[in-house]
Amino acid sequence: VALIKTGEWAQSALRKVISSHVANFDAMGDLYLRERGADVRGLGNRVLARLQSSDTGIVEYPENTILVSSELTPADLALVPTDKLVGFVSVKGSGKSHVAILAEAMGVPTVMAVGDLPIELLDHKPMIVDGFQGTVITYPKAEEVTYYEKIIKEEAALVEGLEGTSDKLCVTKDGHRVRLWVNTGLMTDVARSLERGAEGVGLYRTEVHFMMNDRFPTEEEQKKIYREHLLAFAPRPVTMRTLDIGGDKALSYFPIEEANPFLGWRGIRVTLDHPEIFLAQIRAMIRANEGIDADLRIMLPMVSSVAEIDEAQRLISQAYREIIEDGVQVEMPDVGVMVEVPAAVYQARDIAKRVDFLSVGSNDLIQYMLAVDRNNAQVAELYQEFHPAVLQALNQVAEAAHSEKKGVGICGEMAGNPSAAVILMAMGYDVLSMNSTRLLLVKHVLSNFDMSHAHEILEEVLTMDNAYLIKNYVDEQMNRAGLGQFIRVRKHS
Ligand code: PEP
Ligand code: MG
Repeated sequence: VALIKTGEWAQSALRKVISSHVANFDAMGDLYLRERGADVRGLGNRVLARLQSSDTGIVEYPENTILVSSELTPADLALVPTDKLVGFVSVKGSGKSHVAILAEAMGVPTVMAVGDLPIELLDHKPMIVDGFQGTVITYPKAEEVTYYEKIIKEEAALVEGLEGTSDKLCVTKDGHRVRLWVNTGLMTDVARSLERGAEGVGLYRTEVHFMMNDRFPTEEEQKKIYREHLLAFAPRPVTMRTLDIGGDKALSYFPIEEANPFLGWRGIRVTLDHPEIFLAQIRAMIRANEGIDADLRIMLPMVSSVAEIDEAQRLISQAYREIIEDGVQVEMPDVGVMVEVPAAVYQARDIAKRVDFLSVGSNDLIQYMLAVDRNNAQVAELYQEFHPAVLQALNQVAEAAHSEKKGVGICGEMAGNPSAAVILMAMGYDVLSMNSTRLLLVKHVLSNFDMSHAHEILEEVLTMDNAYLIKNYVDEQMNRAGLGQFIRVRKHS
């Protein structure tokens, strides 16, 4: 304002002021503070864009909006009101990325990594997003529109047909009971999950709340949001994962710069190096349960050695003791570990001895076992859930957990793939946890399957050495069981 009063025009005054702030940040020694310069620059650019445009900045989204972005972020997911939103398209990214997983949990068709789409030319233009095939059709022909309208109707009929089963338990035709839980992150997941009859939460991705914020949420703020989650699901179990940042999950206010983020400072590694962050979160989780007595379970991500578990448990016990000393009456929660690093597969028994439950994070386990970056579209074909090595590892983890009489679940996307779910059930996984979009589909398939048939399939696939052959074999068996129409899964490209 002072510069404008001296006669500068607004845009130039803004540029000068922002540049001088950014220069100050750039000169700071501390990496965290230096990075804040980017925030000021971003803010300056946004103000400048408003100054230079005649539009009011209020976007009226039309019916059937498809949000097209160069790189979809978790914050973008909430931009368009859900009653107007029908699809997401991202030029960059991949179908296994966290943002793609969140988009699928919303039940919105999403295509990632479309590559050379000229997004600036597509505003308000007609488009079809095929989340099954991972394709986008711009300016569709009349026959394409007719074809996809038919698919939309079929899908709606399929979902409607499944809805009646939401209050039924999942039991195979020959009487074997399987627990189907949900993965949550966004608050919208809670209502969808309850509507679909989730029996518990197998993975609450607490980092989503941290990612939506512009600073670390305080212990009180965390407690409030965890309490909402517990209240919504009580008395059903809720498995809260401790902060899993790093890799592709960045906090703008806690920058991590690394050449290989997925092999770097992720999950438990970050929180054990910052016990103040870990303790605040654990305290918030335990205190959130006061007076509810829900079945709270705490789960540790990215564990690669038992030393990490010992240290985390020491901190959890310390937090619990302090809370009790403060006069709060709560139960000590169960503590479990995610098996998502190959080292944890080989040490599954040692881990199971120390904790109350194991849960396989197959998204990361596949990435690390097959050395395929889950965010790299270039190698997406090599990311194979039915890879024989992956199946052997999953089988070993289930055996290891059971030999220690501990429960074992799986909370990666694989659990929501009906063909994989059949195999996992046969391996003895006690809990399959998936996004709520897949819940009824998996329930329908398993409830119409025989455990004895699933065992036969498992026995056969464990002798096979090729992922494509295994996939074809399982698909054929699904057809044999009359469930072929349910194996069409969203591929995301
Ligand atoms: C996994 O890795 O399978 C998992 C469930 O965790 P995330 O996808 O959040 O890394
Ligand atoms: Mg993971």
